[in-house]
Amino acid sequence: MQTEMIRLDPENPGVDGIEKAAGLIKAGELVVFPTETVYGLGASALDPGAVEKIYRAKGRPQDNPLIVHVSSLEMAGECTVQDLGRYSSILDVLWPGPVTLIFKKSEAIPACVTAGLDSVGLRFPSHPVALRLIEAAGVPIAAPSANISGRPSPTSEEHVIEDMNGRVGGIILAGDTIFGLESTIVDLSREKPTLLRPGPVDAERLGELLPGLEIPGFVRARDEYRGEALSPGLKYRHYSPEIPLILIEGSPGAVVSRAGILARRDKSVVLCSQELADYYPVHVKKVVLGSRNDLYAVASGLFKALRDRDNLNYTQIISEPFPETGIGLAIMNRLRKAAWRIDRV
Ligand code: AMP
Ligand code: MG
Repeated sequence: MQTEMIRLDPENPGVDGIEKAAGLIKAGELVVFPTETVYGLGASALDPGAVEKIYRAKGRPQDNPLIVHVSSLEMAGECTVQDLGRYSSILDVLWPGPVTLIFKKSEAIPACVTAGLDSVGLRFPSHPVALRLIEAAGVPIAAPSANISGRPSPTSEEHVIEDMNGRVGGIILAGDTIFGLESTIVDLSREKPTLLRPGPVDAERLGELLPGLEIPGFVRARDEYRGEALSPGLKYRHYSPEIPLILIEGSPGAVVSRAGILARRDKSVVLCSQELADYYPVHVKKVVLGSRNDLYAVASGLFKALRDRDNLNYTQIISEPFPETGIGLAIMNRLRKAAWRIDRV
């Protein structure tokens, strides 16, 4: 398939490019587009034929539901039977932004979008390109992350070209995404608000907005979630680089010494913080993700480090743990799910 490359300014996307991309969506084709979290692989959420193409292009299991992207509260209201007016005080704070909210779905949303669930994940992105595209298409856009299933999500132009060129109608190229990790997901379709996936809007902030917010154990766990099917997509292994990733968890001294031992046997690259970088042995190749005091910077570079061709020339990637506060909870959630093994030291 010939893929049209559409280059747009992320702040001020030109009308022509947006119209071209929106035309592809309206014609039932797939378009890769940037959001503030990661790049998405979009199709009209109202067109089952187009939605099927998403699953095929990604190689995504059919039981893993898609998030529906909207450009207004009114459009969100058409996708759910719940009264969004009841949530206006939190929606005012969270939307537009990097948060997906799960509500009971309306009949407008076909079953293939939600993998047969009676709920739908809704997201109102703040990225100007995503907003303009949805507005111009005039329909909600179903979009998972634009990676081949199982790989780390794409946060740069290079990543989306690598995974999606030749598989989709169009790719919008608009630079790196901002947060670099997928949206926070909160389920508001059940009795108690429940955090399903940590993300850029942190659990501390959400707890203030949603008193009684449940944080299930699987948010911090590595193993697939085996209990009640709160969110089917959570059971799949995600974000895995092409070579084994070993996450070390423990005190700084123990982490550094374990990394040194592992790196003696295998050609290793270590993803580390600025604070510990100088403590690793010289035979270790270091990639500094950022300071432990600036976890947003760490988050934004994480998937890039897991996909970087230079890093993949090594035998294994070793990662330091990061504090589980703020966006750190999301960083550790992704690292644990991506890890081939976790060494607790
Ligand atoms: P992705 O778009 O690749 O980041 O994945 C979207 C994730 O959102 C899925 O893997 C699910 O875990 C979650 N999700 C989407 N829709 C629902 C829903 N209706 N109920 C629960 N989880 C959902
Ligand atoms: Mg994904």
